[in-house]
This record gives sequence, structure tokens and C-alpha cells, in this order.
Amino acid sequence: MATKIVVLGAAESGIGAAVLAQKEGFEIFVSDFGNIKPEYKEMLEKYNIPWEEGKHTEEIVLAASEIIKSPGIPEKAPIIKKLREKGTSIISEIEFAKRYTNAKMICITGSNGKTTTTSLIYHTLKNAGLNVGLAGNIGKSLAWQVAECNYDCYVVELSSFQLDGMYDFKADVAILLNITPDHLDRYDYKFQNYIDSKFRIIQNQTAEDAFIYWNDDPIITAELEKRNIASNRLPFALEKKKDEKAYLEGSNIVFNINDPFSIPQGELAIQGIHNLYNTMAAGLAAKTINVKNEAIRQSFRNFQGVEHRLEYVATVRGVRYINDSKATNVNSCWYALQSMKTPVVLILGGTDKGNDYTEIEELVRQKAHTLIFMGLDNHKLHDFFDKMGKKTFDVQSMEAAIKTAYENSVKGDTVLLSPCCASFDLFQNYEDRGVQFKEHVRKL
Ligand code: ADP
Repeated sequence: MATKIVVLGAAESGIGAAVLAQKEGFEIFVSDFGNIKPEYKEMLEKYNIPWEEGKHTEEIVLAASEIIKSPGIPEKAPIIKKLREKGTSIISEIEFAKRYTNAKMICITGSNGKTTTTSLIYHTLKNAGLNVGLAGNIGKSLAWQVAECNYDCYVVELSSFQLDGMYDFKADVAILLNITPDHLDRYDYKFQNYIDSKFRIIQNQTAEDAFIYWNDDPIITAELEKRNIASNRLPFALEKKKDEKAYLEGSNIVFNINDPFSIPQGELAIQGIHNLYNTMAAGLAAKTINVKNEAIRQSFRNFQGVEHRLEYVATVRGVRYINDSKATNVNSCWYALQSMKTPVVLILGGTDKGNDYTEIEELVRQKAHTLIFMGLDNHKLHDFFDKMGKKTFDVQSMEAAIKTAYENSVKGDTVLLSPCCASFDLFQNYEDRGVQFKEHVRKL
């Protein structure tokens, strides 16, 4: 009998993995503890893959030779504990997919900036005429594309949860953008566990493989001191200190790597310091795979940015409204505030992930005159911010948040949704939160 693979979690990655496993001749079963979305059920039927929902039948799951686990399922889930006790191999969809392709892998991780950087690299490579796929946390799963498409190269956004299930996978180009505390609830509240997870991006790399990283990040640089790195290092930083391959010189970003070139900061389609870093990482990745300088320049000029990331929505009565719903941790809110050039009404709050607001304390003092706390439980926000003497409001819906922002802003202000928190207390997800923000702004 063929090896039995069980896929746990039937969403984008799980369904893709099941399709690929079936194509590769495995006996396959898909199990989801919740409800499977209709479009995914349709896929399972279409490919004739057996499945269950609302439970994990132990006789089936525990009999698997290998498990492909959705990144959303935590280690502490009872079924995972049982599988670990049994010693069953548990891998991620990305690990599985890589076994069946020789395509080049350009992989991006970091606490913030993954989607922006991944999208920018994809945009650049596609514009340069490469036969490239976009995968990981964005769009169709890598496994599905490996099964159904024939790309020469993939740009893959990897979360720490995906990296956790990767063992033999090797990135040809690995990008580590930054590391700040996030998702600590999934890492026993130990920051080091999360750091180790992020560093899996360079596992199995040799001197043939590129490792692009932010050399100003104190966590990354401290970690590099401790580790033996086999990869070809391509650091980037705001200023050239030593071996940086991308940096700012005056107002130009310089790419100091084979056939060096530069691009004026003002020509970039996406603004803010954080996007300088994302652009440096993207440019180095494109250079590594020999994209021509002019093609890179052109792509950086016409990249549209990504929805819900410092997305300009509208100006109403002279007040700008910015949707940064994807700022689900404190560090990304720091960058948002940092890029603000006007007084700010800040909408923040939601599901707290063990946040420490000290990081944005100074910027909030300087830039925000009003704070709108939007969450089911705002006590932590009050405990931290009330001492500043700003105007604060509690709201429990986007409609109320926008109404309050509208009433408390004046011409020249910016209303910024940059919540520092996950959205699950009041919204389906950050996209839903961002879409509601835009809808209510447009109703003003
Ligand atoms: P991710 O996919 O890692 O969550 P995104 O590109 O979706 O990253 O951006 C998430 C949030 O982080 C947005 O609010 C964005 O403005 C901010 N951000 C983007 N790039 C960076 C960066 N390099 N450093 C810090 N914050 C960033």
C-alpha cells in the first residue's frame, strides 16, 4: 500500500498539499477540526480526496506515516501532542512541496515586511520576464502550484509557523528582514524560540546560497555572532558600515553587488523607512538572480504597494485616512507612526499578543493627539497610555471608530488605523478590519 499521508487543516496550504500528494501517488486523507470552506470542499471532491470536518478521527490520523500540518494548528493541540508522542513526522506544506520541484526558491521571512517584500520581488521578476510563481502566505499554495504549474522559480513568503515544519528544505535565496517579538503565545513566551524559528530560513544553506539580512537589527546581528553561517552573506543597512551590499548614500539606495547601481529614494513607489529596507532586500534578491539593473529600477518605480499596508484611503475635510490594518504588532505601528508627517488620530487595539507598548511610547507622545481604543478589552491600553494625558475613547466597532475619529480630527490631521493587535475579537481577520475601515471612511 502507498504511504499514508494525512493533511491536518483544510485551507489553502492543506488542500494544495493534498492535491500534490495525490498526484504523487500517496494514499491521502484530509482532516479539519473546524468547518471546511465550500470552495475547498469542491476541490477535494474534484480531486476525489477523502476528507472529514469537525473532528480528527484518531484511528486514521495516528495511522499516518507522515502528517502535513497547517501552520495555523498550534503544537499544543491535543492531536499534535499525540502524534509527537508517537514520533510521527510532522511537516509543513512548503517542506512537502519542495520535494517535488527543482525550481529556485527565493524565501522571505521577518516579523514585518514579508508580504510587501515578497510582492515587490515577484513584481520585479515577473516584469523582467521570468517564469515565476508567488507562494507561501500569499495567493495559491506552493504545493498546488508545484502540482499544477511549471514555474522555474518561486517567491515564497514564510511565517515562523511554516518554518517550524521545515527540515530538509533549502532556500536558494533567503531573506530575513527583521526580528521583533511577535506570536510569543505560540513560542512558550520565549523570544529565543521565535528567533530560532526565524533563523530556519537559512537551514541547509551552503556558500552557493544567498542570505540577505538587515544588518541594523540588533537581534539578527547578535544571533549572527553566535552562529556558524555557511551561506553567502548579503547584508543591507541604512548606512554602509562594513560589508553591506545595499545601503543609503545621500538620497540614493546603492546596490553594491555585481554591476552596481543606485536608485533615488524619491523614485520609489512605496515610501517610509521600512520600505527602504524592503526595497534593499528585494533589489539584492533580484540582483542575485541576475535581473538587469534597468528592469529592477523600473519595477521599483511602478510597484503599487499592497492593500492594508499604509494604504491611503481618502482625504475628507482635509483629514487623510490611512489603512494600516496589517500592523498587527507594535513594531509595525512604530514604522507607521514614524512615517507620519502630520498630527495623528490613532486607532489601535484588538486581540493582544503579549504586547509591550514601550516601543511606541515616544512616537505616540510626539505625534498622536487622540487615541481610539478599538477592542473588546481595552484595559491594557488604558493602563499604558492614560498617563500621557491624550484624549482617549473606547469603541467596539469600526463604525464607531470612524465616527469618533471624524469628530476629533481637524484639517491637516491624519487618521491612522495601525492597531498593534490581531483583529479576531471584533473582525474576521485583518483584511475584514481594513475593508470595514475603508467602507466607513468612504461613507463620511
Ligand atoms: P508581514 O507580511 O510580515 O506581516 P507586511 O508587508 O504585510 O508584513 O506589513 C505589515 C505591517 O508592517 C504593515 O503595517 C507595514 O506598514 C509594516 N512594515 C512593512 N515593512 C516593514 C519593515 N521592514 N519593518 C517594519 N514594519 C514594516
